[in-house]
Amino acid sequence: MLSKLKAWPSLQEKKPMIIAGPCSAETEEQVLLTAHGLKNKNINIFRAGIWKPRTRPGSFEGVGSIGLPWLKRVKQETGLPIAIEVANIKHVYEALRAGIDILWIGARTTVNPFAIQEIADALQGVDIPILIKNPVNPDVSLWLGAIERIEKSGVSRIGAIHRGVSQFEKSVYRNNPEWQMALDLKKYLPDILLINDPSHISGNRELISKISQQALDMKFDGLMIETHINPDNAWSDAAQQITPEQLDIILNRLIVKTEQPEGIELKNIEELRKSIGYIDEQLIDLLGYRMKIVEDIALFKERNNMTILQENRWNELVKNHIENGAKKGLTTDFITKVFNAVHQESIERQNNLINK
Ligand code: PEP
Ligand code: MN
Repeated sequence: MLSKLKAWPSLQEKKPMIIAGPCSAETEEQVLLTAHGLKNKNINIFRAGIWKPRTRPGSFEGVGSIGLPWLKRVKQETGLPIAIEVANIKHVYEALRAGIDILWIGARTTVNPFAIQEIADALQGVDIPILIKNPVNPDVSLWLGAIERIEKSGVSRIGAIHRGVSQFEKSVYRNNPEWQMALDLKKYLPDILLINDPSHISGNRELISKISQQALDMKFDGLMIETHINPDNAWSDAAQQITPEQLDIILNRLIVKTEQPEGIELKNIEELRKSIGYIDEQLIDLLGYRMKIVEDIALFKERNNMTILQENRWNELVKNHIENGAKKGLTTDFITKVFNAVHQESIERQNNLINK
């Protein structure tokens, strides 16, 4: 079940699986020029969107079925297997009829169990490889649920694509790379093929190289990178697409690492890990000690009818911690996350003690 090495032969070469091609198929010429640019560039699969799930109406929504024969030509002329996105039963039937090799399910579809079930039903008895993107929100159960539904329809080759998640706040990323979500998925499905999509994470071609290397360092098995013969004039996702030549440069720079390289003396890293282990023990001791004191504070607050939440004091504390953290090279984001977790736990403890 989901045995990635057996199911995906290209992985046996210990090289990342590379899926490349335009965000959208726009014209026959654009598709073929891009595909020929990618031929002999060490890619394994050609991608193109035929039906595009656009967030707002009025943007280019894909050429639709007329693009399917263009992709057939790509396969004939380059030998590359073809992957497209499907979001409903009609897409599945048309893709199968057109001889498409691999289907992927987009992030806006993975959020919807009805849509996934419809696709799963359409796939009954058809063992075509399916790649499933994470949902737009950081919910690993939804992602897992989609994989389970597709698996139940009898599909034996399933891969997961991590394309980041939507966020309310502005950031350098178009979709925040919630690495932990992908690692959590791997906890449930250790053998699943895990592909990273740096294009939709970054939304910006400058970041693609960095995110690709990060993904390989996180033991992703492959990358899906949007590639276009004329990226600046692409009809969708222009800012994040790169040319076949730029892709080639990025791929050649990537370093594929191993967890335990053969013939390397591991003694030094073991010493360092031991130090980290001691520090973690101390952190736990201190956190335990801190929480005991919090309980005394709770009793004081109870005796004197003080609220548990003392916002001003807490804000002052965090401000100081951020300043001190910066002196030690710790980011505001990190300090805020750590101390928010500490604060939440301490509020809960006080609540339990006072309002039990
Ligand atoms: C795409 O791959 O072109 C796409 C629409 O991606 P996502 O579903 O990740 O937004
Ligand atoms: Mn796209």
